[in-house]
Amino acid sequence: MKNTTIFRFYFLLFNLFLLMAMPGRALAQNAATGFRLLEEDRVEEAAILFQGLLAADPLDVAANYGMSLVHGSVWYAGRDPFAAYEHAQTAHTYFFLLDEREERRLSEQLDAERVNLRKNIAEAELYERVLASRDSTALERFVSSCVLSRYHASATEELARRRRELAEAQERRRQESLRQEQAARAEAMDQQLEAMRALTLVLGISNNFSPEQRVAHQRWATSVWGLSMENPDALFFRASGARRQVALTFDDGPDATYTAQILDILAREGAAGSFFILGANAERHPDLVRRMHREGHLVLNHSYDHPRLTELAPWQVRDQVERAERVVERLIGLRPALFRPPYGALDQATLDAIGQTGAKTVCWSVDTFDWNQAGPRVLEIGRQARPGDVVLMHCKASTVEALPEMIRALKRSGYELVGLDELLGLPAYKPLRAR
Ligand SMILES: [Zn+2]
Repeated sequence: MKNTTIFRFYFLLFNLFLLMAMPGRALAQNAATGFRLLEEDRVEEAAILFQGLLAADPLDVAANYGMSLVHGSVWYAGRDPFAAYEHAQTAHTYFFLLDEREERRLSEQLDAERVNLRKNIAEAELYERVLASRDSTALERFVSSCVLSRYHASATEELARRRRELAEAQERRRQESLRQEQAARAEAMDQQLEAMRALTLVLGISNNFSPEQRVAHQRWATSVWGLSMENPDALFFRASGARRQVALTFDDGPDATYTAQILDILAREGAAGSFFILGANAERHPDLVRRMHREGHLVLNHSYDHPRLTELAPWQVRDQVERAERVVERLIGLRPALFRPPYGALDQATLDAIGQTGAKTVCWSVDTFDWNQAGPRVLEIGRQARPGDVVLMHCKASTVEALPEMIRALKRSGYELVGLDELLGLPAYKPLRAR
């Protein structure tokens, strides 16, 4: 009995050394183990364990709990139930203390988590508000002040995205306004160019023009220029090639006095002429029409009796073209394929009606204004003409007077005087009808 007690003492001492190194945190767990040993009636092992706990952290509640159990169990082993009971009572108290401490720890942990949760919710709400705001200053503030927020990275990214978008939108606006500016400038230049072209489309000016006539002439040139741009295959003014050729055209014949004289001059000077005749005049002077054709000039269509076609219905325009055409066909067996509207009066509907008869419309690019000129200014054409020009003249006294010198001047300038068909590369007559 005595030996056993000594053995127990040394065994306890040995375990005391072993348990010295045990960290304070493990005490509660070890106390629970000790308690289980007691329940299994392994009293001595429990005593050793609890003794060790006491040594590891004497101030710990769990240690005191264990210590009381040790004392209780030791006394119980020594068969002193009353003393053992007292120690068991103390252990019981410590057990509750232990329990209470755990509860407090848990509740503190819970409180901390609750605070954390509230903080997270507040932060999430703030971030949501910041994102919802279209104004990026709130987002900027969030990025610069909430550096530790778990939304910081995504907020930074969002801010960068918004800044990128803003920069892109600004760039797009800048490009668009630049484009509009350029388009406006190009359009203004186009208009200027267009106006310049319209003014140079038809060379020649009368020295006898009233201001009203001058304005009317420019207005006409501008409007038919636009029409020719839209109908490049139906309306012609001059040849675009660089060949040094000019076509002389004579309108409104044949007449009793001047047409024959013009034909004489052309024959003498060796020049080709293109006559835009009126059907009614051709009926009156059929021999002159035949002579034009016989002497190698072109007999072309200038309507039946010189109405302003833009004031007529399309069927009337077609009738004017076709009546004159029938007269010419009766006289020379050919139907003119080139038509010149009286006064140069044209609009889209008129041009379309002329086209429906199978004829092309030809205006002119040099106006001698032989019907409205003071003095011999018609001669200047020799110096003004450009390659491909179509010169407008009429069967008139002033033309007869000026024509010889004009032809010589053109020839001196190196021009070849050709028919309109050769100049424009268009057939002068329609295909022969199949019989
Ligand atoms: Zn005419």
